[in-house]
Amino acid sequence: MPWSNRKAWVFDMDGTLTHAVHDFTAIKRQLGLPTHQPILESLRAMTPARAEPIEKALADIEYEIAGEAEASPGCEALLQRLQEAGCRMGVLTRNTRRNALRTLEVSGLRSYFEDDWILGRDEAEPKPDPAGIHHLLEAWQIPARQAVMLGDAIFDLQAGRAAGVLTVYVDQEGTFEHRRWADYCVRTPEEVETLWAGVG
Ligand SMILES: [Mg+2]
Repeated sequence: MPWSNRKAWVFDMDGTLTHAVHDFTAIKRQLGLPTHQPILESLRAMTPARAEPIEKALADIEYEIAGEAEASPGCEALLQRLQEAGCRMGVLTRNTRRNALRTLEVSGLRSYFEDDWILGRDEAEPKPDPAGIHHLLEAWQIPARQAVMLGDAIFDLQAGRAAGVLTVYVDQEGTFEHRRWADYCVRTPEEVETLWAGVG
C-alpha cells in the first residue's frame, strides 16, 4: 500500500520524535532497579507501597530530561507533511502524559498533536501492549491497515505488530537490532518523509 494511504500515524516520543537522550541503564541504577529488565516491568513486580516512591523518582528524572528535549532531525518536516495530508497523528509513550506534554512543548512539536491523542503510561496499558494504538484507531475510525507505528524501541514495534499496523523502526545509531519486528528501518524521521515523498 502506498504511504499516502496511511492516514493514522502513531509516534513513540523519546528517541523517535526527539533525540535519544534517556540512558535507561543509568536511570535503573539511580533508582536501584535491576538492569536486566525494563523499568515499568520491574515496578509492576513490586508491591504498590514499594513501587510508589520509585515511580515518583522516575517521573522526576524524566521531567528533568523533558526540559531539554530537542526534536529529532526532519521530525517537524514529516509532521508538517502528514498534517497537510490530513492524517491523524498521536503520541503513545511509556513516559507519563505530563512529561510528554512538556517534552513536546520544549521541542516545539506540541502544536502537531491534539490533547486527546497524547497517551502516556497511565492513559493506556503501556507498550508492548497494543491498547493505546487500538484506542487511537477506534477514536479516529481508521482501520489498522491504514495505520503506522513509528518507534525506536522493541516495545514500539511489538505493539505495532500486535495491532496489525505498519511498523517503522527509527534507530538513530543505525544498528537496527530489532529489525525483525520492523516493516521499515530508518535512521531518522527525515527518511520517512523522503519515503513518503518518493514513493507516494
Ligand atoms: Mg523511544
